[in-house]
Amino acid sequence: MVTGDKEVEIGVWTADCLPVLSSTKSGTFVGAFHAGWRGASAGIVPSGLKKISGESRTPVSELVVVLGPAIGPCCYEVGPEVWEAVRVNTPGYTQLTERTLDLWGLVTHQLLLAGVPNENIGRISLCTRCHPDLFYSHRGWGKQRGKRSMLNYIRPANDDRH
Ligand SMILES: [Zn+2]
Repeated sequence: MVTGDKEVEIGVWTADCLPVLSSTKSGTFVGAFHAGWRGASAGIVPSGLKKISGESRTPVSELVVVLGPAIGPCCYEVGPEVWEAVRVNTPGYTQLTERTLDLWGLVTHQLLLAGVPNENIGRISLCTRCHPDLFYSHRGWGKQRGKRSMLNYIRPANDDRH
């Protein structure tokens, strides 16, 4: 989702998937993206940034992005279908092992390719599964999680409040 409407907040609910928030530097146009392995490998984040860029007439290189807490490469074991999708959609991305997937690493790789400068990318590299005191991990909690999730949301700033 992307918006420039100052009356609304947009956000994503997650419980291991990667939440991504983005904004123009002035904060007048924002986006919120939910990146599990399917969305992340298919490039939902760079696609979303292109939408922000187009609608706000701001170059992608001037957007800021924050990758939120997600299940980390320490805990995110994946099957071969995940890496098949990554290879098809993001062929240049590699890791030391394909037994796991590093969602932060994959999306950071895509953002750099899309032209977002490294200094515009923030990461809260906390693993949701390793921190049950802070987060509800789907993999860590299973059915005990119920519908509990983490919400990350963002709202456009007023033009005069940079
Ligand atoms: Zn972990």
